[in-house]
Amino acid sequence: MKTTAALLVETGKPLVLAEIETPALNPGQVLVEIAYSGACGTQLMEVAGDKGEDKWVPHCLGHEGTGTVVDVGSAVTKVKEGDKVVLSWIKGEGQEAGGAKYDWDGKTVNSGGVTTFQRHAVVSENRLTHLPDGMPMDVAVLLGCAAPTGMGAVFNVLQAKAGDAIAVFGTGGIGINALMAAALAGGTPVIGVDPNASRRDLAMTYGATHVIDPTAGDVIEAIKAIAPNGVDLAVEATGIPDVMLQAVNATRQQGGRAVVIGNAKAGAEFKMSPNVFNSGRSLLGTWGGDSVPDRDYGRFARLLGNGRFPVRDLLSNAYKLEDINEALADLRSGKIGRPLIDMSL
Ligand SMILES: [Zn+2]
Repeated sequence: MKTTAALLVETGKPLVLAEIETPALNPGQVLVEIAYSGACGTQLMEVAGDKGEDKWVPHCLGHEGTGTVVDVGSAVTKVKEGDKVVLSWIKGEGQEAGGAKYDWDGKTVNSGGVTTFQRHAVVSENRLTHLPDGMPMDVAVLLGCAAPTGMGAVFNVLQAKAGDAIAVFGTGGIGINALMAAALAGGTPVIGVDPNASRRDLAMTYGATHVIDPTAGDVIEAIKAIAPNGVDLAVEATGIPDVMLQAVNATRQQGGRAVVIGNAKAGAEFKMSPNVFNSGRSLLGTWGGDSVPDRDYGRFARLLGNGRFPVRDLLSNAYKLEDINEALADLRSGKIGRPLIDMSL
């Protein structure tokens, strides 16, 4: 069937809206009619070419969304036609069927195991989870990336406990989810660090007890004015190497832990003193907040839906698929935290 997709044809250029033909389903693949897609820094990096040379163009993109199953390939057992699903880049149960190849007027269009900037997508079974009960399909796009990454960093990687002092560097979509998790875990204080004033305001709405503007002075001193020994736990969600260092340096000696979530540009490096480790601090990495979709998404859905935070407001700006480039520009400028692409518009 024909469907509309926003394609990356050349890095550094706007996405191109194209009518592409979906392929016959391979074993383990599922055809999904997308209802909503989110977008995050990963797509901004892909479009800008910040991940290095892109040998897959032209290709589909987007890695978080919700939709309805239209058809399933052979051997698919996890979902069936008509099921409402969450699409996520984080692999869960089910088959890894590889990326689909679409046809665009005779040209091959590549895609990964999941893509969402399109009205219909061929997705690997293991990138789908059932829409949790009671979860609206728009809010559920957060389950595709921002919630498992941000909440997972706090609950799964750092295993925050009540009373832990927690700092979150970068309060965009993922950082906001980390702040909510920090607050729900009983973190005290919960400190949001972001140079953007509107994102600092957002941080205060979504769990931060304090916010810091890192351009206003020394960040570590500002954190120690709130948590004198440093924080127990820190989350980095900016992709900036210097901020990754700040995150670990903001933690307390003898047990402080920091986790890096942000993706740095290809080739980026930082230099750090090994004394950081000798003082008993740890710098950790994570893949999707160490989240396991089939185990964690129902739990994160209940936390997002418990009414403590105005979660729907995180997605206040809805865009048509045709306006995807505007959505990405607004995300890049910091005008919005998390765009919502509504395929019904
Ligand atoms: Zn993402």
